Amino acid sequence: MNGAGGQAAPHGPRPDALPDGNVVLLGGPGSGKTTLLEAAMHDLASRPGAGALFVTSSRQAAVASTERLLARVERAAGGGLSCVTWHAFARGLVTSHADLLPYRGEPRPLSGPEQWSLVRELLLQEPPVVDWGDLEPLVRTRAFTDELASFVLACERRLIGPEDLEERALSLSRPAWRLAAAFLAHYLGHLALADLVDQAGMVVQAGDLLEDHPDLLAATVAQVGTVLVDEAQELDPAQFRLIELLAGGGARVVMAGDPAGATDAFRGATPSALPERAARLGARTVPLERSHRLGAMGLDAVRRLQASGPDPAVALRAGGTTTRVEAAHFPGPAEEADALARLLRLAHRHDGIPYGRMAVLLASPRRLAGPVRRALERHAVPYRLGAGERQLLHEPIVRHLLDLFRLALDPGRADELLPSLLTSPLGGLDPRELRALRRAAVLADQPLAEHVEAPTADLGVEPPVASRVAALRDLLERVTRWASELEADRCFWEVWCHAPAFAALVARAEAHPADAGVVRQLDALTAFSRTLGLFVDGRPTATMRTYLDVVERADFVSDPWLPSSSARLDAVALLSVHAAKGGEFDLVVVAGCLEGALPRTAWPEGVFEAWRLDGDLGPVARARAVLDAERRRFVLAASRARDRVVFTSSRTEGRGEPSRFLAEIGLDPSAEAGGGDPTPLGALEATGALRRVAADPARPAAERLAAVTTLAAVPGVDPSTWWWRRDWTVDPEPIAPEGRLRTSYSRIGTYEDCHLRYFFSSVVGLDDRTSYQMAFGKLMHTVFELAAKGETADDPGSLKAAFRARFDPAWFPSRAIAHQYWRDGMAMLELWHHGEAETARQALRFEVAFEMEVAGHLVRGRIDRVDRTDDGIVLLDYKTARSTATEEEARRSLQLAIYYLAALRDPELAGLGPPVEMQLVYPAQARAGRFARVSQRPGPDYASAVEQRLVPLLEGAAAEAFDPSPHADCRFCAFKTICPMWPQGEDFLAPVQPSATAARPGAVQPAPGGEP
Ligand code: SF4
Repeated sequence: MNGAGGQAAPHGPRPDALPDGNVVLLGGPGSGKTTLLEAAMHDLASRPGAGALFVTSSRQAAVASTERLLARVERAAGGGLSCVTWHAFARGLVTSHADLLPYRGEPRPLSGPEQWSLVRELLLQEPPVVDWGDLEPLVRTRAFTDELASFVLACERRLIGPEDLEERALSLSRPAWRLAAAFLAHYLGHLALADLVDQAGMVVQAGDLLEDHPDLLAATVAQVGTVLVDEAQELDPAQFRLIELLAGGGARVVMAGDPAGATDAFRGATPSALPERAARLGARTVPLERSHRLGAMGLDAVRRLQASGPDPAVALRAGGTTTRVEAAHFPGPAEEADALARLLRLAHRHDGIPYGRMAVLLASPRRLAGPVRRALERHAVPYRLGAGERQLLHEPIVRHLLDLFRLALDPGRADELLPSLLTSPLGGLDPRELRALRRAAVLADQPLAEHVEAPTADLGVEPPVASRVAALRDLLERVTRWASELEADRCFWEVWCHAPAFAALVARAEAHPADAGVVRQLDALTAFSRTLGLFVDGRPTATMRTYLDVVERADFVSDPWLPSSSARLDAVALLSVHAAKGGEFDLVVVAGCLEGALPRTAWPEGVFEAWRLDGDLGPVARARAVLDAERRRFVLAASRARDRVVFTSSRTEGRGEPSRFLAEIGLDPSAEAGGGDPTPLGALEATGALRRVAADPARPAAERLAAVTTLAAVPGVDPSTWWWRRDWTVDPEPIAPEGRLRTSYSRIGTYEDCHLRYFFSSVVGLDDRTSYQMAFGKLMHTVFELAAKGETADDPGSLKAAFRARFDPAWFPSRAIAHQYWRDGMAMLELWHHGEAETARQALRFEVAFEMEVAGHLVRGRIDRVDRTDDGIVLLDYKTARSTATEEEARRSLQLAIYYLAALRDPELAGLGPPVEMQLVYPAQARAGRFARVSQRPGPDYASAVEQRLVPLLEGAAAEAFDPSPHADCRFCAFKTICPMWPQGEDFLAPVQPSATAARPGAVQPAPGGEP
């Protein structure tokens, strides 16, 4: 973050001109508070023998101040120059003097997620640690754990112990607090016994140490000398107690803060408390009235907002800068995100503002982070995320790595994990290459997971793509070994050393050290490696499987993380409003300024209502306090830019009004912004705009001619590559080489129903759905086959065990559906055992694959079971669907007809006897005590009748005739959105110009009544 700039404020007091003794610097945004503190720190550190401690509220601000301080050092300084958070300072004291506290050794600090998990563990303990009474039904919910975990921290930050809380419960008639007090006592006792300390408790323990051990206090004061406190308006009572103790011990305290700027009230900060605290320390007040950051409209906006709230204590005056303020409203989040990305790009390209001097502040990160990140990537605007904006496990590179481990340990999840892994940096394919691979798998008639196992030469894709697929496959093989044999951190180390993608990443980082994306990936991997190291430290011999088991628990929340070197990158900062505290930029876009988001108007009230710990406000006073807090958050966002701040907002699903605070500062964004700045960003947009002019018959001929002339002058323009200007069916590579089609009975069945659906699903390979119904059907086939072959004993217990071992609830979209299918499976096994098993054990064959020639084409397939009868064979196909086909549908079934032909022509099947019946068998339906079935029986000269039906279909598919069928069964077709038979897809295949080729075989026909 670019914060205070590292220079003493040009018009403010110099550090050596500050009064002696304790001092409090009061000033609004941009008044130079941090700069002055940093200058004071620098002065003190360069004086031999003088010590200083610089403490601030957040890790991000501490890192930024440390970097600025170090950047000013010309020679070795006499004292330490680092800036720390309160937690880090307290941790240093506690871990160095743990022997003075009631621990058996050095206490282990709990991270936020660990503290949450501990609260959850205590809540779920049997017998319960607290009798929750009426609250009992809530205790096992996540929301209850969320609230209680925050509540115990809130009590610690406010120095409220169990007895104090119980007293408050009685005096305020809040029975829930009495229960919480009992829990707090148990929780604190557990921490002490387990040698653990949570984040808030660390500061409390440090205060106890200084209070109970005067010699330690004296030594600490002698060491720190002067305590410089930034963001002092955010101090909670436990932190202020540390300051009071240090001041009482003789340390000089210099605090800086904006009394009207407290935004951490939810963490225990008390708005407007700073002057009163200064008085308690006997500090002299130094007002900083001039804003070195804000001027003109920007300053006026902040003044107006502050005038609506309580007295700001220090009035701000202009400092010579000019800050523009604008607002725009958009129809939806995508338009808003696109407009702000263009705005940043133009500001960089035309006004020369470095990306590192810009920020996007998100009023509602959950709603906008995705669209904004995608828009920034689309417009090639580099960005960096702030601390806490993302959890480490959600970093894309870490997520892909975890998927690699998951797949290695559980190959059954290939359908779910493999596609994204192939397009990740570890696989290196782009979406087009993945589609080509999928298509090759479809043509080879096997699932993608099986296809990637094929020899590299048989993968059916271009050699560079095939070699990347093979590299991922090899890596996966090795990871399978490492993940089960090595400890988790060593497993990661092996992958780091052997994955080609990581070697390439390091090479890119060396070649382009300022590439924000590459640096972030390396930072995330480093942090992940550290996390694994800590994990294995706490659980020696833990493998990657153990780690995945932990992170996949529903209650696991991983730590937020701070990319260490992001501040030095020339990239736009993408932050929540809160994380922008202490930051300063040239240009800031505040996105999502909607009622409901900024200000937030709905707050979860919960059971414990931690806010009442600061005073039991009535509903009106509470509403006012909430609105004032939100206004302070808005001021924080509005006061980060020196030159320009742009507030944007957009409707969500047609709803949403611009924030009321925009009206308070005199902006009216209610009118929706048009298309924004039309200036093209780059050659692609410029040629697009020129092409639109050239193709528009309504424009004057001279204008169109000028556009064409300009287009001709643009380097790299090649009309032959223009999208949508060629007939896409002109393809030199026929789908059926030399007119010979290779297909399966199920695909050609699709072709019979609808030619276009066959094209989309089988030729283009778009239908990659692997439904849970298919997974369940496959499982039932397997269990029936095992039982019929005698590989599983035919008693109910063994059948259920075989089913249980293969049933995976993760296939299903919800537990309820998984449960339903579990029961269906059990019922089918019951029916199998009583009505089907005996006949099935007499079967001749199971899962018989066949291939046959039909009019020069190859048709393949697989028959589930072949039974013998007195006069021939019966061919069976299991259908695990609940609804059965009618006898008439079975009689017309192309699938059963093809089975018949196959039984005559495939050598293996032909050797079993003449086909006399083909059956569709429904294990989910009972009829006469066995599986329901419907059948087809061959009549005289049936083979030639089947051939007459089949050959035109094969010829049509080979000749690439892919018209949509007006009689198709479209109910479950996934391609309606791209099918010209449906309104939503009618533009998709419509040629731009009337095409002479439209009627040619192989060209897609237009929809009846649709455009040519
Ligand atoms: S929606 Fe109907 S007509 Fe269109 S492709 Fe699907 S099945 Fe064919």
